[in-house]
This record gives sequence, structure tokens and C-alpha cells, in this order.
Amino acid sequence: MIYADNAATTKMSRSAIEAMLPYMDNIYGNPSSLYSFGQEAKEALEDARARVAKCLGCDPREITFTSGGSEADNQAIFSAARLGERKGKKHIISTAFEHHAVLHTLDKLKKQGFDITLLDVHENGIVTAQQVADAIRDDTCLVTIMFANNEIGTIQPIAEIGKVCRDKQVLFHTDAVQAAGHIKVNAAEQNIDMLSISAHKFHGPKGIGVLYAKRGIMLDNVINGGAQERGKRAGTENLSAIMGMTVALEEAVANLEKNSAKLTTLRDRLIEGLDKIPYGELNGDRKTRLPGNVNYCFEGIEGESMLLLLDDKGICASSGSACTSGSLDPSHVLLAIGRPHEVAHGSLRLSLGEDMTEDDIDYLIKSVTEVVTYLRNMSPFWRDLVNGKRTHVFAE
Ligand SMILES: *Cc1c(COP(=O)(O)O)cnc(C)c1O
Repeated sequence: MIYADNAATTKMSRSAIEAMLPYMDNIYGNPSSLYSFGQEAKEALEDARARVAKCLGCDPREITFTSGGSEADNQAIFSAARLGERKGKKHIISTAFEHHAVLHTLDKLKKQGFDITLLDVHENGIVTAQQVADAIRDDTCLVTIMFANNEIGTIQPIAEIGKVCRDKQVLFHTDAVQAAGHIKVNAAEQNIDMLSISAHKFHGPKGIGVLYAKRGIMLDNVINGGAQERGKRAGTENLSAIMGMTVALEEAVANLEKNSAKLTTLRDRLIEGLDKIPYGELNGDRKTRLPGNVNYCFEGIEGESMLLLLDDKGICASSGSACTSGSLDPSHVLLAIGRPHEVAHGSLRLSLGEDMTEDDIDYLIKSVTEVVTYLRNMSPFWRDLVNGKRTHVFAE
């Protein structure tokens, strides 16, 4: 099997699994207990917090453990909204191609009377700091823009956007779920006020993540209850998952340059191969993209059919994002970069992993080429294109 869906989730690293085991086995105490057995768990928790903070360029007191990226996004955005509301500021800026954890949270706020500006994304899948500067108003309380897009992998100019927000004294949150552990993420150096990460996207366990919030930002609870996480996130801490995430993050950060160089080479080899398929186009900027992300639109193809045929060849891939597959709506990300409906349906995302080889890449190129040819030969829509009854969207 070739697993080319690392943007959906990743295989856990062996050392992360091993780091978890003692906390499911012998060290099962509750960190909130006063006896020394509980204190051992408490010490592990605070040690993990310090290590995660070091990886993200912030202070341990700025780290809140959450159940993952979605919860962190929700908490960051709701918190900033409540802070803004108190000052009479109810305008939020984001982009049209955010993850649904951000977009659906903004939908809720809109129903509560917030004014939401979704910036247009350029054809290359990038928004600029200038767009943000132009959109900021006196009543803007938050800018939330993703670090790297989960479908097309494009990387946003986060440090510049952060600088604009800081100059105008507007809170800046970034959903860094696809970025952390893959490209450099540093809160202090990149002018970030709040950021979300999720362990299962960098070889850690599922169901655990982090919200970083700069000191002085009052967080609002999403989960109410006990006084864990300084009262900002109730519920007994998932210590084994926190330990697994910590080790996975340290490992990813320590190997970042090596992995990124390897993945970039594999990515560019794959792009070079898939570029040869006629009437297809890479989605998103060629270079300013995650080292492991490749995403194409092919004319005359249904994404779902492509996935099933690739599955028969032992390939795990994705079309649109995992959350939207199963629905017939084309990906909001592809529409946001201006792809017309008919080609947005024919998208394919291959997200590579560090353990892949050049042979795997060559097998991917061969398989995708075969599948696209096969499906086009069966498609009445494609026949119309060939006969000139319809016009092509892409050049050959
Ligand atoms: C996966 C993902 C999320 C959601 O993270 P979970 O931990 O699965 O809740 C949010 N944003 C982006 C960009 C993602 O890729």
C-alpha cells in the first residue's frame, strides 16, 4: 500500500507511541490529585508543556492542551470575539479557503451579529499582507488566517500578516495545523498572537492538540468544568496523548530540514510526472507550498471515481478534504482559487510521507496517468471535449 494521504492524518512515530505507554500503564494518576502519585503525573504534564512551548517559540504559560486542531480553532476565535465584543468591536477578517473548523465557527459568530470579511485568495492560493492591511477597520477584533492550506498546501506570509496586525493592534490567530512539524512555526519570530496545532498531523496521536495564546489574552472556555489548564479548558488531561504529541513534535522539529528537503525532492518529481497528463493543472503555487503536498485538477474526471480506482491499485489519496468527500459540492478551496465547478470536481490530493521512495513516486505517476486515461475514455463529458462540443478549461 502507498499511503499518500498524510494531510488527512499520519502514522504515529514509534518513539511517540513508546512515550505514551507508561502513562497508560504505571503512571495513571490524576495530575490534579494532591498525593505524590498524582504529582508525578503533574510534573510530566508541566514538563510536556515546557517542551511544546520551546518547539513553538513561546512561554509554557501560553500553552493550553485541547482535544485537537478543531477545538483550538474554536477556542481561539470565540475568545477573540468575546474580547472584541466587550470593546464594541465585532468585525473579523479571515479567508475563503480556511478549514471548516474556522469557517463554521465564523458562521456562528455571524449569527451572533459579527461582521465577517472573507478575503479572496489569489489564483496561486496565497493571500497577501496588503490585503489584510486594506481590510482592517477600527472595529476589527481578530484576523484569523491559516498558515498552510490543508488541500492545496500553499503557505501564507504569516510573519508579514502578523506584523500588519501588530502594528494595527488587532489580534492575529493562525490555524497552523498543516504547518507545525513540517515548516518553521515560531510564535515569537512570526508575530503570532494565537495558534492551533494538532498532533495527528505530525505523527502524534489523534484527539490532542494545542492552543497557544500570547500572555494577556483572556481565553474563553469551550469546555466548562474543573480548573484544569488554568481554568481555561476543563477535563482531566489526556496525559498519555500529551506525552506522545510532545515527543512527536520534538522529533518533527529536530528533523524538519532533513525531512523537508527529502519531501520537496519527491514532491517536485511527482509534479514533473503529473504535469505530463494533458488538460490537468497543479493547484496552488509551485514553490510556496508544503514540502509534501501535490494537488491537481484534471478535466473530464470525477474525483471520487479516481479515488476508488487508485484504491484498487493500493493507493490512499484524497479528493477535496476528508470532511467534504461524501458530499457532491466541490471543494470550497478550489472554488476560492477560481477553479470552475466542472474541474473542481476532478481534483486529486496526494500528500507525501517521509518514508516514501522515488519508486513510490514513479508508481503514483504511472497509476494516476492510467486512471485518468481510463476514466476519460469512458466519459461522455470527455467525448464532448474531444469532439469540440465543449471547450477546454485548461491548455493541453
Ligand atoms: C486537520 C485540520 C484541522 C482539524 O484538526 P483536528 O485535530 O482533526 O480537529 C484544522 N485545521 C486544519 C488546517 C487541518 O488540516
